[in-house]
Amino acid sequence: MLDVKWIVHKFGGTSVADAGGYRTVARILAGQHRTDEYTAVVVSAMSGVTDALIELVEIAKTRDDSFPAKLEALKQRHLDTLTELGLEQARELELAAILGADFRDISEVLKGVSISRIASEQIKEFVSGHGEIWSAQFLAAHLSSVDSRATWLDARQVLTVDSEGSQIKVDWIRSQTKLDQWLVEHAPLAETVVITGYIASTQDGIATTLKRNGSDFSASIFAALLDAESITIWTDVDGVLSADPRRVPDAIVIPDLSYQEASELAYFGAKVIHPNTMFPAITRGIPIWIRNTFKPDARGTAISAKPKSEMPIKGFATVDEMTLINVEGTGMSGVPGVSHKLFGQASSEHSICFAVPARQTDLTKTTLEDAFEAEIRRGAIQTIEVVDNCCILAMVGDGMIERTGIAGKFFHALGKAGVNVRAIAQGSSERNISAVIEQHESTKALRAVHSAFYLSPQTISVGVIGTGLIGGAFLNQLAERIHLLKTERGIDLRVRGIMNTRRMLLHDRHLDLEGWPDRLEACDAEADLARFVEHIHPGHLPHAVIVDATASAELPRQYESWLKSGLNIVTPNKKGNAGPFNEYQKLHDAVRESGRYFLYETNVGAGLPIIHTLRNLLDTGDTIIRIEGILSGTLSYLFNSLDGTKPFSEIVRAAHQQGFTEPDPRDDLSGMDVARKLIILAREIGLEIDLEDVRVESLVPENLRGSSPEDFLDGLVDHDQAISELVRETQARQHVLRYVGAVEANGNVSACLRSFPADHVFANLTGGDNIVSFQTARYNSQPMIVRGPGAGPEVTAAGVFSDLLRLASLLGAPL
Ligand code: ADP
Ligand code: ASP
Ligand code: MG
Repeated sequence: MLDVKWIVHKFGGTSVADAGGYRTVARILAGQHRTDEYTAVVVSAMSGVTDALIELVEIAKTRDDSFPAKLEALKQRHLDTLTELGLEQARELELAAILGADFRDISEVLKGVSISRIASEQIKEFVSGHGEIWSAQFLAAHLSSVDSRATWLDARQVLTVDSEGSQIKVDWIRSQTKLDQWLVEHAPLAETVVITGYIASTQDGIATTLKRNGSDFSASIFAALLDAESITIWTDVDGVLSADPRRVPDAIVIPDLSYQEASELAYFGAKVIHPNTMFPAITRGIPIWIRNTFKPDARGTAISAKPKSEMPIKGFATVDEMTLINVEGTGMSGVPGVSHKLFGQASSEHSICFAVPARQTDLTKTTLEDAFEAEIRRGAIQTIEVVDNCCILAMVGDGMIERTGIAGKFFHALGKAGVNVRAIAQGSSERNISAVIEQHESTKALRAVHSAFYLSPQTISVGVIGTGLIGGAFLNQLAERIHLLKTERGIDLRVRGIMNTRRMLLHDRHLDLEGWPDRLEACDAEADLARFVEHIHPGHLPHAVIVDATASAELPRQYESWLKSGLNIVTPNKKGNAGPFNEYQKLHDAVRESGRYFLYETNVGAGLPIIHTLRNLLDTGDTIIRIEGILSGTLSYLFNSLDGTKPFSEIVRAAHQQGFTEPDPRDDLSGMDVARKLIILAREIGLEIDLEDVRVESLVPENLRGSSPEDFLDGLVDHDQAISELVRETQARQHVLRYVGAVEANGNVSACLRSFPADHVFANLTGGDNIVSFQTARYNSQPMIVRGPGAGPEVTAAGVFSDLLRLASLLGAPL
């Protein structure tokens, strides 16, 4: 063999889907090449070609006469790619002639298959290997056009294997001899050798393959034969991921893997690498890299003998479409022969179960029935149960050998997601734990275990209902902070759904909040509360919260069931807390029983910390004597403006026009909004009260209670006189008028218009400020005061946001 350093690169079908793919490959190779190294490039068929060739044989066999047209389409795809490669004309014509001849051969073979309706394994192997033959020639021709020292090798000329079913045994000695001979003849002329992946020859020189996805295996066989320094498998993902990215959107790149870990992951179905790939590399200690053709700057995954890694668990994978076979019999107990007969090993259980690929179910069952005929007749074996539609879910990692609690976490995650585990096994290497589960739960289970090991407990699935003033402002505030919260605080808030009364916008991972209103408007999913809630609470994410930013009376009726199903709730909506006492009690019982959080700081005083302050006082053992304050932003504004210069009706009308009141100002003036807030505060301190227990003074004159909002505003003028007199009389005493709510520990709850001396804290407010004073045993002569803007979308939204962060902190985030 030549005494040179070899580097092996392998490009999968995903890398060479078209002419652009071959150009990209050439660029990558040029970037990787060092002058003192020779490069072997193992290449797969263009993507989809192997599938298409196999399908052609299958359809020819059924005498479906569509195969000539399909074959022609495949030929055309190759001719088009060839044209697009823009080779020198002579070279292009030469390759076109080769393609023509190959396709004629295949056509003849398929005709034979169609007539005889026989498609032997050899025929399938012969036909299906052509994709690599064409692909390697395309790549070699393109490389030659940019680098004249490239040639190609049809692996069938050197690689010799014996295959028994799916087992492939490489004849190393013969393959080595043949390769060495080939190199002596060709390699001195070419620093780059393009080698066909997937294909090989039998000892008799008949074309065969290394079976599906076998090009990875080809790459490592050639690396061993060439004693290469490294193997790089270029594909369409950034490396080996912690799970199949098509099923687990959160999957991340595993930077380093041991050969064993990679083998196990591949064995359990991680398609990115073929299970056999590791064996030749292990014996020579050749490192394997998995990298992304489309992101050549990404580091990728390194697979080696002793990687440095702190992660005990590397990845998860599933083997789909399996059948569980359960052999059960009381007579088996203590009869080691049964399991010996089954597996060639002893066991004294009274039942044994194992999984087989679904397509082997019937064969397995009849084989078992034949083998155990005597035992079944004797009654030693009672049932051979077949459980269809199963799959195997596996977790892989070297670190589980030394650590405890890993299996517990795995099964706990499955349990929490409601996945039914039918059987469990731990690999003898102790590098994997696997469970047989039902096929339809495969993705859910994969996501659940993946999250348990890979996501921070502070990952929260967020669903926002209501996109009005508060909901909208909240989403905008979130959009600005969400990234920083994740990078700097480790709080991963994932807004996975936004819904208003008409539509809903859902995302599996997280919505990009930039421009959310347009996207919500443009999406065509109609609002569907049940579907929305189910989506927000998917089972595989550790925590979920619904932000109810509506004023709906309907949604709070669902809170109890949401909490019980494991959702947390954050809301400015007062309806849940201010309804009938028995409903309030049921809701709060559900909070306690479920262990979930229901946060509603913005029910009183918008973003001001009123409920939180009250809770702190109570929790630290203080006794509340009286809570009193101005709790309506609107009423605060009206009376702060009522200085005798303008009539009351005018102030109300102006406030109404500026949007400072409810659409019907009587909703504010009736005092009911204040009464609801008082009920909420009263219930916090343990009073069992309902709305009818609150003495509420309505500022809406009796005669104006039934009219329209406009008539009300007109009619209010008739009352200006009386109010002006009241103001004058109050001012004469150096007092001001304020609408104040009060809760007393003895159960007196009231909301009414009162006068306060001009130097009282309630007298000196601005705009729509709220103020609450807590008179307690500790804060007795000097009450504790909370004051500030207590209404408006921005401050309310900020309060909702702060509740959401409080939730993250309650769930363990370091805030
Ligand atoms: P190639 O044509 O390059 O051989 P494959 O389609 O055979 O590519 O394999 C790459 C694909 O494997 C990826 O696109 C990805 O969807 C899938 N895949 C499945 N499991 C994993 C995993 N654990 N890590 C990375 N990719 C995976
Ligand atoms: N082309 C073959 C297949 O699709 C081999 C490979 O790409 O690994 O199975
Ligand atoms: Mg592959």
